[in-house]
Amino acid sequence: MNMENRKLLEQGIQELVIPADNVAHVQVGNSLEHALLVLTRSGYTAVPVLDLHFRIHGLISTPIIFDSILGIERIEHEKLTERKVEEVMNRKVPLLKESDSFLRALELSINNPFICIGKEDGVFAGILTRRSILASVYKNFRNFREKN
Ligand code: AMP
Repeated sequence: MNMENRKLLEQGIQELVIPADNVAHVQVGNSLEHALLVLTRSGYTAVPVLDLHFRIHGLISTPIIFDSILGIERIEHEKLTERKVEEVMNRKVPLLKESDSFLRALELSINNPFICIGKEDGVFAGILTRRSILASVYKNFRNFREKN
């Protein structure tokens, strides 16, 4: 394996993480209406769902919310205020620890636009986006081409 590939594989993921303070999120007990506002205002289609102790419970997205308020003949918009995020969120969260490898992050990013990063105690540390992983791979290939 050449030096560049080794450097890429051995780099940590920590430096690529968007820290929790900069990540839009909602809380388990929030209404679907609140979640829809957060999603629309932030411009993201999915954001993490956390509890009061900042632990990760799931992901909520615009398609999940719309799906949960669709009746047979109409949009049951009253459900937006009646239902809570935890009732409809996706509980399968792509999750890594800060100490996990770049290769593992690259693998998870194939099927997920972003990966949640948890600290050892399960507290949310931030997210790693497919964009930042791809940018890192691109930088590596470009450096390789310039040197060879
Ligand atoms: P991007 O690669 O920047 O388009 O981000 C991919 C996905 O990651 C977005 O669609 C969001 O679901 C999520 N995401 C990225 N940045 C943030 C952020 N600052 N807060 C919440 N979610 C984010």
